[in-house]
Amino acid sequence: MKCRRCKAEAEVALPSHNTAFCRDCFLLYFSRQVDHAIRRHAMFTRADRVLVALSGGKDSLSLMLELANLGYSATGLHVDLGIPVSSERARKRVEDFCAMHGLDLKVVELAAEGLAIPEVKEAVYRPVCSICGKIKRHYFNRMALEGGYTALATGHNLDDEVARLFANTLRWDEAYLSDQGPCLPDEGGFARKVKPLYRLSEFETAAYAFLRGIEHHKDACPYSPGASFTSHKKLWGELEWKSPGSKVSFYEGFLERGRPAFADRDREKGFELRPCASCGSPTSQELCGVCRVRAAVAERRGG
Ligand code: SF4
Ligand code: ZN
Repeated sequence: MKCRRCKAEAEVALPSHNTAFCRDCFLLYFSRQVDHAIRRHAMFTRADRVLVALSGGKDSLSLMLELANLGYSATGLHVDLGIPVSSERARKRVEDFCAMHGLDLKVVELAAEGLAIPEVKEAVYRPVCSICGKIKRHYFNRMALEGGYTALATGHNLDDEVARLFANTLRWDEAYLSDQGPCLPDEGGFARKVKPLYRLSEFETAAYAFLRGIEHHKDACPYSPGASFTSHKKLWGELEWKSPGSKVSFYEGFLERGRPAFADRDREKGFELRPCASCGSPTSQELCGVCRVRAAVAERRGG
């Protein structure tokens, strides 16, 4: 198969686009998709400072490298979850990656914050993943606001977004459908959240990471119940195979015609948000959810 652009031998086939590219033309295609997403949704400009959440996985590291290559001002943020072995490896991947490419990195250590995930798991009687996600989002937001960043970028790709949208649609979850999208505005104590990889599939980000030689963290978290939305991703994989382009048209169609219908079903509606008495994050209660978890961990330690 030949590269569509330069007619050299193709290295990456993209059935969804009915095309194939050689290495250089694929990397150019990838850059254009990222830049198009950023400009189309006015995520940020080259004058802005962007904080990029880095888990150590292929998506977040690919995003960071591509933003830097495109000339955006990007700083990485890694949250060290304090899980033995797994977190140490993930952090090392991120630190090595940023050192190798000369990229700025900030690290938040949950153990130092009194929130190491193994301790949280013992102290709180809810599924650890939902709390872990909440804690990570809390620190992403705080670090973005405190550091004066314009936007907080995450490495969610098209498959992540489609699987999430599909799950929300199956439940007709109006609140979530109202605020799913590649660019959520900064308001009410929340930083602007952006997903510049939302037009690229999991396969495409994996191909990018491979072609760029990015060493990423591959081990599953010991608490992982299995990759989230796995069965939905599988279903969509079959649909895409039979009908190339389904994912992108489902998602783009939602952004254009579906989401506006849910615009006023905001999750926080009816709740008055105020600053947490301890950390200042927006909450509808005296203490935010993360400060309440921290208190539960401290209490368990003391008891
Ligand atoms: Fe956190 Fe591990 Fe759950 Fe992911 S799988 S949310 S890292 S506890
Ligand atoms: Zn708080």
